[in-house]
Amino acid sequence: MKLIVGNWKMNQTQAQVRAFFEMLNATTRRHEAWIAPQALHIGLALQLAPAFVRIGAQNCSEHDSGAFTGETSAATLKDIGASFVLVGHSERRQLFAETNTLCAHKIAQALKQGLSVIYCVGETLAERESGQTLLVVKRQLQEGLQNLSTWNPGQLIVAYEPVWAIGTGKVATPAEAQDVHLAIRSELQRLFNTQGQQVKLLYGGSVKPDNVADLMGQQDIDGALVGGASLKAQDFLALCQ
Ligand code: PEP
Repeated sequence: MKLIVGNWKMNQTQAQVRAFFEMLNATTRRHEAWIAPQALHIGLALQLAPAFVRIGAQNCSEHDSGAFTGETSAATLKDIGASFVLVGHSERRQLFAETNTLCAHKIAQALKQGLSVIYCVGETLAERESGQTLLVVKRQLQEGLQNLSTWNPGQLIVAYEPVWAIGTGKVATPAEAQDVHLAIRSELQRLFNTQGQQVKLLYGGSVKPDNVADLMGQQDIDGALVGGASLKAQDFLALCQ
C-alpha cells in the first residue's frame, strides 16, 4: 500500500485541526496516512485522528534532554504518543542551517526512542542544473545515515524532495522522480544490503490530487510527502484515494 504523509508545517489553528479530523472520521475509506502537525497540535491530533492515521512531528532535538531552551526531545514526542518524525526537511536545512551530520544525530536519537524517521533529501535547482543531483542526494544519504547499522522494519523511510519542487507548483516528472528514486534505492542497498533495499521511498514536491497517480505509478515511488495539498481534508483524502 502507498503511504501518504502530510506535512502541515507552521499552519492550522485548533479549529482547523478539529474540522480536518471531523471530515477524516466521516470517511468510510481507509488508507495508510500519516500527518505531522505543528508540535503544539500533536496532542490534539492524537485525540481526534481516526485509527488509520498516525501522528508525528516535523522535527526533534538531537539531544536526550536538558538545557536546550525551545527544543522538543524525541523522548517527549514518543511519550505523548507521536509515532514518527521528519528529519532534514529542506526548510530546516535552508532556514535553520541543519547539516547532514546534525541530521544523523537526530535520526539516531529518534530511532533510539522508538520513533519512525522520515529522512528528507533533495537537490536545489542550481545543483540539478549543474548535473549534481545524484551526487548531492547520495552524500545526504551517506552522511545523514552514517553510523546507522540497524533499525526495526519500517522504522526508516527516505523522502526525495527536490528543493525546487517544494511549494513552487513545479513537480518533477514521474520519470525524473523515478530516476532519482532508483538511485536512492541502489545507494541504500549498497550501504545497508537487504535492509536498505526495503526502505520505503516517498516523493515530495508539489504533489496534488491531479498529479499523484502518475507519480505513484512509478516502480520505486512508495508514497508521497505532501505539504500544501495536505492542509485540506478533501484534498488529503483525494490524494489517499
Ligand atoms: C513539503 O513541504 O514536504 C512539500 C512537499 O511541500 P509541497 O507539497 O507544498 O510542495
